[in-house]
Amino acid sequence: MAVSVVWFKRDLRISDNPALTEALEGSNPVVCIFNLEPERLARDDVDAIHIEWELDCLSALKSSLEAIGGSLEFHFGQVVEQLTRLHETFGIAHLYCNEETGLLWSWERDKSVAAWCSSNDVQFIEHPSNGVVRRLGSRDRWKQYRDARINAELVNTPVAMVKPTKFESNRIPTISELGMRPRPLHERPLPGEKAAIDVLFSFLDERGRTYRKDMSSPITGWNACSRLSPYLSTGCITIRQIVHYTRRKQKKVKVNPRSKENLGWTSSLTSFQSRLAWHCHFIQRLEAEATMDTIALNPELDHHLEREMNEERYSAWSQGTTGWPFFDACMRSLIATGWINFRMRAMLQSVASYTLWLPWQRTGLHLARCFLDYEPGIHWSQVHMQSGVTGINSIRAYSVRKQSIDQDPEGDFIRTWVPELQNVTNEHIHEPWLMSDEQQDETSCIIGKDYPHPIVDEKAARKEGISRSYSAKSKPESRERSLRVYDVHGSRKRR
Ligand SMILES: Cc1cc2nc3c(=O)[nH]c(=O)nc-3n(C[C@H](O)[C@H](O)[C@H](O)COP(=O)(O)OP(=O)(O)OC[C@H]3O[C@@H](n4cnc5c(N)ncnc54)[C@H](O)[C@@H]3O)c2cc1C
Repeated sequence: MAVSVVWFKRDLRISDNPALTEALEGSNPVVCIFNLEPERLARDDVDAIHIEWELDCLSALKSSLEAIGGSLEFHFGQVVEQLTRLHETFGIAHLYCNEETGLLWSWERDKSVAAWCSSNDVQFIEHPSNGVVRRLGSRDRWKQYRDARINAELVNTPVAMVKPTKFESNRIPTISELGMRPRPLHERPLPGEKAAIDVLFSFLDERGRTYRKDMSSPITGWNACSRLSPYLSTGCITIRQIVHYTRRKQKKVKVNPRSKENLGWTSSLTSFQSRLAWHCHFIQRLEAEATMDTIALNPELDHHLEREMNEERYSAWSQGTTGWPFFDACMRSLIATGWINFRMRAMLQSVASYTLWLPWQRTGLHLARCFLDYEPGIHWSQVHMQSGVTGINSIRAYSVRKQSIDQDPEGDFIRTWVPELQNVTNEHIHEPWLMSDEQQDETSCIIGKDYPHPIVDEKAARKEGISRSYSAKSKPESRERSLRVYDVHGSRKRR
């Protein structure tokens, strides 16, 4: 008897998985596969931490499938090779998968699979599993489509599956067998679907109460943000599941919002829901422009900006040795943990683009490799926005000095991640270069020796970056393109 194949990609879960559930509803035995392309390991936006996380989440998926009577075949190579072999062994009737929005390489891969299916008489069935709409065109009606998808009932979790006899799981290689050595991450989350659900409920039951107030600081954000992003990036959980359980909590809170038990929750959950909507809003941009890692949404504007590569600035920026304590603390903490909160991500990118005038393509790649939760659709959309190359978003160049004073007034975060400044007093922690020679001696922190001088004069460089950006944005070609960018990508809330 022919089989149905479920091709897992970035949907490493058995719950709320339309492709898996539909395959199991059919009459054919089901074969589950995962394929890792060797060329992915060498991509500039991929880091060993991503592959290691993916393999660990995959092992968890394999256990879940085996627990319900299924198995998982891992293949290192091209997916059509794997399909060809399975087709020769069993005969494939249907190939099921969930839609993935990725960069050009993943589109090319998916097209080659579709072509293989059509020439081998295999029915290729792709399911949407979030609010991103294929072949959308204008944004005018996107919210309606997105809401209909997200408000739909969760797909049932399968409890049993039938696989062909003699089709057992094979071994998933370790990261070192693939020749990769990921940097060890401090407090890396636990992988897999079950861990994702635990993290969601620890947020909805406890951690999320102060989300609204605490999300902007890298200190409080560590606990108060949901920390679901790495799970979303490998599809261990869906946006629909998160929205669904958050609504359930909102309903509970609404009964008595002023009770002690519910204090803080109303505003935090509202803010959280709007971030969840942004998830699909930004991935929708990549759905329409798969080259966002190289070409700006507004190429004319990007051209007029004429940003230049400067290796010295790039090196200080990427390693956290700019001489701006709070910036360096954020970059070093990100490298060590694989996560930082939204406000600080925006600052890291905006300082690169406005203050240091570096090309966003290169700095965007560095950040992609730093984030454990790298999600191309959100990432490149945000890199464009924080670099002012869309033409439809306001120019927002973050001041490191302001963020430092607002988010780390006592300098605790700085001292944790920049030990060179351990003994510097609160008075100078944000701008240690203002210490007198005597004060530098007293704190064992000689500027230029123990800790660098600021790479540029932040105030002047940022001001110049902003002014150049306004000038490029006002050019007729940039403005003309902005209208088209708005039509396809603009949020319809605000014109
Ligand atoms: C330059 C830059 C690059 C970024 N790159 C990524 C990336 O590669 N992967 C990624 O998941 N997020 C990225 N973000 C968005 C955001 O910073 C992270 O989603 C968030 O910090 C993840 O932590 P969390 O899950 O605790 O978020 P929470 O605040 O708890 O939010 C829950 C979820 O909502 C979504 N969300 C939250 N904020 C945003 C946002 N601004 N835009 C879109 N979706 C959002 C995410 O899916 C997130 O997991 C980037 C932001 C910037 C400024």
